[in-house]
Amino acid sequence: MTISTSEPFIKTHEVVLALGSNLGDRIGYLERALKLITKNPKVRFLGVASFYETLPQGSTQEQGNYINTAIALKTELTPEALLKMLLEIEIVLGRKREELNGPRTIDLDIILYEDTSTTTQDLTLPHPRFRDRAFVLLPLRDLLKQSSCLKSDYWKPYRKEYETYHDPNGIVQELEPSSLFRKFRNFS
Ligand code: AMP
Repeated sequence: MTISTSEPFIKTHEVVLALGSNLGDRIGYLERALKLITKNPKVRFLGVASFYETLPQGSTQEQGNYINTAIALKTELTPEALLKMLLEIEIVLGRKREELNGPRTIDLDIILYEDTSTTTQDLTLPHPRFRDRAFVLLPLRDLLKQSSCLKSDYWKPYRKEYETYHDPNGIVQELEPSSLFRKFRNFS
């Protein structure tokens, strides 16, 4: 038997990210975010949920509807490094934090990082508000229903809890993921 020493063992983790946009070319921003996230060689795309057009929540300001979705990834990045990358991508895509729950070109959140549970100044996992939000839970349900992604045992309790979840609250319509997302799905 030959044991290769050239490739060190690298632990990878399955994660779920929520993506949302309600300013400008919303699908264009989601697609640019996907391209930037998957450009990182330490990230592999596993799957995408449906897109959902949803009503903005938690703001008194007039603003447009969101397009929300979620993606599953496999990554060797730590939760902190992943968050740093997402915050940098939000800046590249013109995200401005002017008002709490204000309109945004792109919003990128880490919902679940396997069974990691943490609360630091910058990062809470699982995401602190994901259980209250149909616009996160419906996409999460979509990913959990796909046998091709989120394969590790960490997802078993979530599968049990959310596989048949349904809540129309704030949901305007369900849409097919855009063609770029579908293309990624076909090649993942
Ligand atoms: P927002 O984009 O307005 O939803 O909030 C982003 C801020 O929430 C970031 O600056 C993070 O430091 C913090 N945060 C805490 N937990 C998370 C998480 N799980 N995913 C993304 N951002 C998080």
